Amino acid sequence: MIITILTLFPDFFATPLQQSILKRAREGGHVEYRVVDIRDYCRDKHKTADDTPFGGGPGMVLKPEPLSRAIESAREYSPSSECIYLTPKGTSFHQKTAEELARKEHFILLCGRYEGIDERIRQHWVDREISIGDYILSGGESAALVVIDAVVRLIPGVLGNEQSLDDESFSPYLLDHPHYTKPAEFKGYRVPDILLSGHHEKIQRWRLEKAREETRKRRPDLYKEHLHSLKKKKGP
Ligand code: SAH
Repeated sequence: MIITILTLFPDFFATPLQQSILKRAREGGHVEYRVVDIRDYCRDKHKTADDTPFGGGPGMVLKPEPLSRAIESAREYSPSSECIYLTPKGTSFHQKTAEELARKEHFILLCGRYEGIDERIRQHWVDREISIGDYILSGGESAALVVIDAVVRLIPGVLGNEQSLDDESFSPYLLDHPHYTKPAEFKGYRVPDILLSGHHEKIQRWRLEKAREETRKRRPDLYKEHLHSLKKKKGP
């Protein structure tokens, strides 16, 4: 998979893509990150990427020319590649979105800044818009990192233990069960006995029960989906 990131701040990605799973995924040949500086597509002497908004008002808007050139150049790799603009106006990013993106060969993440991008780019060059939540960030870079992190760990072979994906929060609409590690007693707090019992089946049952309990308490909306998915599995 190739992920192209279009940004005015390429240095933003220098460290995060060099850590842990994102780094291992790249080194293992599962993914290539292409961080592209939008300014490289500005043709004027001062490399101006933004300008004042027509109609007045505060803030700056990313100019259409460099953005269209950067997107078109990224698409040369594969003309059908989706260009995804990160924006609070986009569709909410979910685990399901990450699963879908993890199956792609190439996609482009466009990071906005200031007041955002010229509307013509949004309408005619962007294929999809994603929001990572109902809040305003100062730029799309941190949102792009959230998307990359959630997607790359789902590429087959990236996580050592494939099974660990199945157990996770959201997969079957359940939040994860609690985790404990050594020591068995810490400052007077003990690990639940069942986890020390060595009884694999009972442990699995306990984990599922805890996962359901946590989901019911914290995310009744998800719990409803979980019950619904169980019903669907069983059939009428
Ligand atoms: N004026 C815009 C916000 C611009 S914030 C508005 O009110 O909609 C600057 C940039 O940060 C945006 O272009 C977008 O790329 C990014 N951004 C901000 N909040 C975001 C969010 N919740 N999800 C994804 N990207 C976001």
